[in-house]
Amino acid sequence: MNFYPGPSKIYPQVKDYFNEAFEQGILSQNHRSPAFEAMYEETIEALRQWLKIPQDYTICFVSSATEAWEIVAQSLVKKKSYHISNGAFGDKWLQRTMLLDRGVFAHTFGIDDELIPEELDIPDICNAICVTQNETSNGTQIQPADIRALKELFPDKIVAVDATSSMGGIALDFGGADVWFASVQKCFGLPPGLCILAFSPFALEKSWKIDEERHYNSLPRLYENAQKLQTSYTPNTLGIYLMGRLAKELPSIEETEKRLNKQADDLYSYFENHSELSPLVSNPATRSKTVLAIQGQAEKIKSIMKKASSAGITLGKGYGQWKQDTFRIANFPSITSNEIADLKTFFDSL
Ligand SMILES: *Cc1c(COP(=O)(O)O)cnc(C)c1O
Repeated sequence: MNFYPGPSKIYPQVKDYFNEAFEQGILSQNHRSPAFEAMYEETIEALRQWLKIPQDYTICFVSSATEAWEIVAQSLVKKKSYHISNGAFGDKWLQRTMLLDRGVFAHTFGIDDELIPEELDIPDICNAICVTQNETSNGTQIQPADIRALKELFPDKIVAVDATSSMGGIALDFGGADVWFASVQKCFGLPPGLCILAFSPFALEKSWKIDEERHYNSLPRLYENAQKLQTSYTPNTLGIYLMGRLAKELPSIEETEKRLNKQADDLYSYFENHSELSPLVSNPATRSKTVLAIQGQAEKIKSIMKKASSAGITLGKGYGQWKQDTFRIANFPSITSNEIADLKTFFDSL
């Protein structure tokens, strides 16, 4: 059983989709051929329906969330960007942006602090706000409603959201921000090497104004290719195909969210009542529903990781400053309720 928060457990039906893709010959089709374009279009529309992405948002594919960080910095940050971060992935986004010679401002906050948009003092020079909706490193989340409130408070700024470890598991309010992206090896339960990037007409307009077209995946270029149902480079056709098949077959996102919320609440209360372990995050409003961080004494954590491994259970290691005294549990939709029950049985047996 695999509870690692990425690369994570792959949906079992992907094995059949993989064979289908092979047999249909789609994998050796030219990426400018009608066969590829039809598959691309089906995938985009299946994703749009399943995740409820607004009709006027462009959906395209890039290689990774790391690449999406760079695309935002290159194509949407004019001079400086404002980064809202409380963990390692938010910090990495800020660092990548700096390396591309954009100026950055950081708003850092604690794992139990909720985002209060009214309290943010965002300098005029920052035309983009970068938010990590679900911070995979410490199991925290920013409520989707707070992201919409942020955009409403700063309508002239681009709000870009990294939702890598939550998209596909919880219902996101795509209309509440301009740019959303997620690589698929986390909450989508797919093999790595693909990232979904969706952006609003406002983001597209901004990227035209900034007029940055030096990169193969500059936003205007991504848009032009998406209009033709193509990509700017030979893409991960297999990943796109698998994504489309999954999006057509999976239960509605509301149904999935309901199941994950219940599982997360059960697990949090289980560890709240545990004698030696407890949730790292104490504020229920900032606790992630898809990645749970559990804290204990370093020695205890070490022994649990070892016992889990012997029992054939992969837990997520602690990350960054929480490396020694936490482990993480992915509550991704590819993991079944039975597997979560078995995980509890394992903890009962310790
Ligand atoms: C895993 C992760 C990334 C990095 O994803 P890549 O596909 O390796 O680029 C970025 N942001 C968050 C929140 C993540 O969890």
